[in-house]
Amino acid sequence: MDKMNKKDLISIIVPCYNEEEAIPFFYREIDRVSASLDADIELLFVDDGSSDGTLKLLRSLAEKDKRVRYISFSRNFGKEAAMYAGLQNAAGDYAAIMDADLQDPPALLPEMVRILKEEDYDSVGTRRINRKGEPPVRTFFAKLFYRIINKISKVQFVPGARDFRLMTRRMVDAVLSLSEYNRFSKGIFQWVGFKTKWLEYKNIERVAGKTKWSFWKLFKYSLECIVAFSTAPLAISSFFGFLFCLLAVIGIIVIIVRQLAGVDSAYGWASEVCIILFVGGVQLFTIGILGQYLSKTYLETKKRPIYLIAETEKDNKKE
Ligand code: UDP
Ligand code: MG
Repeated sequence: MDKMNKKDLISIIVPCYNEEEAIPFFYREIDRVSASLDADIELLFVDDGSSDGTLKLLRSLAEKDKRVRYISFSRNFGKEAAMYAGLQNAAGDYAAIMDADLQDPPALLPEMVRILKEEDYDSVGTRRINRKGEPPVRTFFAKLFYRIINKISKVQFVPGARDFRLMTRRMVDAVLSLSEYNRFSKGIFQWVGFKTKWLEYKNIERVAGKTKWSFWKLFKYSLECIVAFSTAPLAISSFFGFLFCLLAVIGIIVIIVRQLAGVDSAYGWASEVCIILFVGGVQLFTIGILGQYLSKTYLETKKRPIYLIAETEKDNKKE
């Protein structure tokens, strides 16, 4: 084909962890939408060590449809690793990241492609403007998290932002140049800069299967984000240290003055125990914060691979 007429290729990266129930719906919907796209697509599924029939399903999809590719991990490495693997292996001029559960509506794709082609943007992000169908505690803590992280981090996080976004090759390469082990993509997408247009939509509940995120998993993820994109907790530790020194000096002065004035200061063992416990607690807490940063540094220095591939569609074809 003449190069001038060649259509752009869009890589659609889909992290999948036990999504055998959702993938058929997703595939049907993408197939429908792709007809109205002014570009070719490749569907790059990343099987993140699923224990259900996901891989089998992907094998048969890849056999039937030339546009389908897949990468299967040797075990569950997490969605962050799956997104990184997808971006690394995407061949497209543009790349999109989408969940397999149709919570990221494929119907937005044509508009996103149009924006990147016609307007002066390198990325189109999406955010949900409500959290219908989510437990209220989760919503409460999510809001709290965004308030805190935006106070203490230079990188600004957009509330409700999803990982669903379309990027130009330029931005994909920029994202890939950050090869850190402790990945937090929402921050990385912001950190690399470039102009991003945000599309908004109301939350959609997953089409089939179950969410892979428990409250505890989300909580740990948010702490990881804070450690990855802010050093404020370390500064807070120093602040506590300074504050307690100051309090101690004031206490010493008060005791000396009282002694000189002839007032007996030697009383109050109960309050003393409380103070010792409190200061001891604060010390352990701040050492814990230090430990968080140290452990992340430790993991980074090991330079372990972010993911390991067990199989791709190319292996499948050989058989
Ligand atoms: N996912 C993944 N690895 C994991 C957890 C999730 O690849 O360890 C994928 C999952 O298959 C889905 C996407 O990440 O396509 C979002 O997960 P989920 O829908 O469970 O999260 P939620 O939408 O509830 O936040
Ligand atoms: Mg989901």
